Amino acid sequence: METQYITLETKGNGDIIDITHYLERVVTKVNLEDGILFLNVIGSTAALTTMEYEPGLIKDLKNILEELIPYRQDYAHNFAWDDDNGHSHLRSSFIKTNFFVPVTKGKLDLGTWQQVILIDFDTCPRQRKIVVKVFS
Ligand code: ZN
Repeated sequence: METQYITLETKGNGDIIDITHYLERVVTKVNLEDGILFLNVIGSTAALTTMEYEPGLIKDLKNILEELIPYRQDYAHNFAWDDDNGHSHLRSSFIKTNFFVPVTKGKLDLGTWQQVILIDFDTCPRQRKIVVKVFS
C-alpha cells in the first residue's frame, strides 16, 4: 500500500478548498489504474466531503452549517478550554474527517459537478495535512 500526503494552507473559519486536482495528481504519481483512495484530514476541526464547487453552493453550505451548528453558542468545550472553536469540533464530527474515492481506469469516479473538498472549521488559518492511503 502506498501512502501520500497533501499539505495545504487554509484561511480557517469555514474555508472550503477543492482538493480534487491534488487527488488526480496522487493517482498519476502512483500510477493507479483501478483501486481506492482513502483520505483522512488530520485534526478534529476540519472535514472532507464532496460538493459542486461553485460560489453559490459555497455560500449556501457555509450558511446552513452556521444555522445548524452556530459559532455563537455556549459550548461546554469553550468553557472547558477557554476556547472559541466548539462549533469547529462539532461540525468536523458531523461531516467527518475521512472519505473514500474509487478510481477506475486511472480516473476518479466522481461526477462532472462533484468535487472533493476540505473544509477548515477552525477559527484561525491552519496548515492541514491529508493522508492518502492508496489501495490497488
Ligand atoms: Zn478546541
